[in-house]
Amino acid sequence: MVDSETEREALLAAISNVADRLTEEREYLTDLDSAIGDADHGANMDRGFEAALDRAESTDGDAAEMIKTVGTALVSAVGGASGPLYGGSIMSASAELEEGITPETTVAFAEAYLEKVRDRGDAPVGAKTMVDALVPAVHTYKKSIEADDLPPLEALRKAVDAAERGVEFTVPLRAKKGRASYLGWRSVGHQDPGATSTLLILEELLQTTEQYVDSEADGDSDARDATAPAEPAIDPDDAETENGDAVDGEGE
Ligand code: ADP
Ligand code: MG
Repeated sequence: MVDSETEREALLAAISNVADRLTEEREYLTDLDSAIGDADHGANMDRGFEAALDRAESTDGDAAEMIKTVGTALVSAVGGASGPLYGGSIMSASAELEEGITPETTVAFAEAYLEKVRDRGDAPVGAKTMVDALVPAVHTYKKSIEADDLPPLEALRKAVDAAERGVEFTVPLRAKKGRASYLGWRSVGHQDPGATSTLLILEELLQTTEQYVDSEADGDSDARDATAPAEPAIDPDDAETENGDAVDGEGE
């Protein structure tokens, strides 16, 4: 990213796009949560990001402080299991953005966020939670930046694709964590709401990044699908359950 004014504008645009998207998808998330939970995930996320946008707009601080206020707002406004998972993890990961928004700091932020979600929720991959979207997204983003040396926009595109496969991966799983686990086998066949909201947020971050990083030297966005390696959606090292063998089989 460039100067701090542009950085602030981009962050506010991202938060605003996420808030709008969650308002649009409120019913969808509610329907997913009514199948295997208590039908509040759409309202929780919509309310949370409205509050986050309000707070971020009235904050003068740098990127780290703005993102920290987003986390604080989510903790107080979202509630449920997802409030502390989203909000608390964003709050602590925000420290990684103290040097501004760069490929390196965003990788560090993503890793710190994932680590906090896992610390707080204690859900392994395959428990049918937001972790199933997050792990492939964060691993793909990190690998794309650090090992494959891709531009951040391309790395983010790949991360979104990986999260999408992770969301699909939740459908056949039996929930082992959160409210859906109370249903046991009856949770099978339903898509996880928290993995889905994670994907929606990532899609909006990508959309916003596309607006702000369009001059980047990666004008070959059409090459995206053609060059996508046939990576598994989930790092097999992370699959701690008997469902691990479902990882490679699903997806296109
Ligand atoms: P609640 O379940 O309290 O009603 P929400 O409906 O807002 O909260 O969020 C439910 C989502 O939270 C689930 O779909 C799942 O993705 C996520 N979740 C629940 N428990 C955990 C956990 N222990 N670790 C990670 N994610 C979890
Ligand atoms: Mg719920």
